[in-house]
Amino acid sequence: MVLAPLLLGVPILLSLVWIWGNEGYHRLMSYKVGSDLVTAHEYFARMRNNVAVDIGALAGSRSLAQALDSRDPEQLQNYLEQARRETGLDFLFLLDTRGELQAPRISPSHARRTHWPVVVSALAGEASTAIDVFDADHLAAINPVLRQRSRLPLVPTPNAAPTPDREETRGLLIHSAIPVRDEHKRLLGVLEGGVLLNGNSQLVDQLNAILYREGTLPLGSQGTATLFLGDARIATNVRLFRGERALGTRASQVVRDHVLGAGHTWLDSAFVVNDHYVSGYEPVVDSFGKRIGMLYVGFLEAPFRGALYGAMFVLFAVFVAISVAGCVLSLRWARSIFKPLEQVDATIRRIASGEADARVGPVASQDEIGQLSAAFDKLLDTLAARRAELQRWGDELDHKVAERTLALEDAHATLEKAQRHLAMTEKLAAIGELTAGVAHEINNPVAVIQGNLDVLKEILGPDAEPVKEEIRLIHEQTHRIWLIVTKLLQFARPGEFAGYTEGVDPSAAIADCLVLTRHNLERRNIEVRTDYRAQQRVEVNTSELQQVLINLIVNGIQAMPDGGILCLNSIDWEEGGQPIGAIIEVCDTGQGIAEDDLSRIFDPFFTTKKGAGTGLGLSISYAIIERYGGKITVRSQPGEGACFTIHLRSEACYQASPSAPGFAARWIEGPSRT
Ligand code: ADP
Repeated sequence: MVLAPLLLGVPILLSLVWIWGNEGYHRLMSYKVGSDLVTAHEYFARMRNNVAVDIGALAGSRSLAQALDSRDPEQLQNYLEQARRETGLDFLFLLDTRGELQAPRISPSHARRTHWPVVVSALAGEASTAIDVFDADHLAAINPVLRQRSRLPLVPTPNAAPTPDREETRGLLIHSAIPVRDEHKRLLGVLEGGVLLNGNSQLVDQLNAILYREGTLPLGSQGTATLFLGDARIATNVRLFRGERALGTRASQVVRDHVLGAGHTWLDSAFVVNDHYVSGYEPVVDSFGKRIGMLYVGFLEAPFRGALYGAMFVLFAVFVAISVAGCVLSLRWARSIFKPLEQVDATIRRIASGEADARVGPVASQDEIGQLSAAFDKLLDTLAARRAELQRWGDELDHKVAERTLALEDAHATLEKAQRHLAMTEKLAAIGELTAGVAHEINNPVAVIQGNLDVLKEILGPDAEPVKEEIRLIHEQTHRIWLIVTKLLQFARPGEFAGYTEGVDPSAAIADCLVLTRHNLERRNIEVRTDYRAQQRVEVNTSELQQVLINLIVNGIQAMPDGGILCLNSIDWEEGGQPIGAIIEVCDTGQGIAEDDLSRIFDPFFTTKKGAGTGLGLSISYAIIERYGGKITVRSQPGEGACFTIHLRSEACYQASPSAPGFAARWIEGPSRT
């Protein structure tokens, strides 16, 4: 794009220079040769005039008058011959007033001269000079030497019109006729004379010397002048290859047709004999008005054309050099403009392909494009900063949304718990009320049944033997009724069951419980492992702690129907190096607790022991431990046993009564904390 003006403009300019140069050259050459031709024309006219002047001088001379007065033909002839020689004429005739040849004597067929216009004009009293062609007979009649001189073999010439003639026999002459008058101006006769131009080197050499004096033609060009008879060179200084004059060679057909045929002047390059000449031709017209020959001047074209081509070449070379330099400079300049733009473009592409940190970077040019690149980089930096800021805001927003979502989930969970808590609280309150009333109402009939059963056994004595089993069953089931009612009462009003507290050795409490449950343990073939390390005592009611431990041991035994290992451990409970109380662990290798059940085992009435369990053991244990400010947790894997951990303080930190709503809340929350 950058080079287009140069690559398009320079060839057009060179073409124009070439066309204009050639045209100017041709015009210049035409002017030059045209002016040469005018000079030649004038010179030729002067030559004719000279002949007329010479004959005129004779015509008016005293010597001619004397010769005429002598009336001696011999003397007149001698006079004319002498005068012809002295004036350099090729013939000199004296005609009488009728146009008849008086002297010298020639063939009678040519003695009557009145068919020549110049003679007619002279007879009419008007001196006349023209160029005329005399045929070979005529010349021979005048003088055989003239015939001989005018004979010219035609040389075959390239580009010339074809001709059957082998030689030129005619003669081209300056033909002049001057009236001769006596002292009274009466016409005595006519002096007719002429100069043969065939082979007349003097004419062309002088012409050439005038036109093309040495040093007038630049660049070593060579000037030439020629007189044509028809299209044949009869007087010329054009040289053949051997240095001879090119007499008998002929003009090219184009020139002949143009000048002789059409009567125009030729001012152009023409092929002359063997080379191109800048040529000027004009037709030569005889006294009859007929075109009989041509006058030519010209100079060798090659040196001029060489100079033109040389100048053109130098011009072209300068143009090309300027163009090449222009191209290089333009390309460099364009590169300095386009390179930063290409850098910007590449940066845009890289950014489009996801390379966010792509930059144009430093640019060589400090102009508008350099400023543009810097501004573009700055814009990208600003965009990157904005993007980072947006990203940060986005992250913060995400974080806040996550936080809020978590808070909402927490709130939702809390709400659910609160709802469950409320329902449970209401349920517990109802159960508590109901249980308290019902328990007393049931316990009395149960006591009556139990008492009467004992009375019945006593009264029947040995007769009771057949119904011994039924009595045992009634006894067992009433005991179960009593047990459930008692537990319900303990659950509903735990405070009523709480006794005094004391500093209990947890290891001793475990050992006591093992004594109480030894029978069951042995029956189930369960190995007991104990590890007592606790030094701290715990503040608790002994029987309540035993109730909790026995509950856990019994659950462990029930979880291992086919035997297993029961571990009972005690260690000190310390936090931050400070003794707080003791930790008791009850672990078994039983079936473990299903994951779904894990969160529900501390719920009241939750049991997996259909018919055999009350679902109150763990909930009561939880309530007891919580009441003393301790905690009970569980961890279990199904199939790998369960491990209950009790934390008890050395100094109890009493919590609200389990029957109060607050108790219920913790009671529910308890398992989920584990
Ligand atoms: P109960 O023993 O009357 O069912 P609990 O409150 O003592 O009531 O126990 C509730 C439930 O907890 C049990 O039914 C049992 O499914 C589960 N459970 C308690 N202790 C264990 C244990 N050591 N191994 C397996 N499951 C246990």
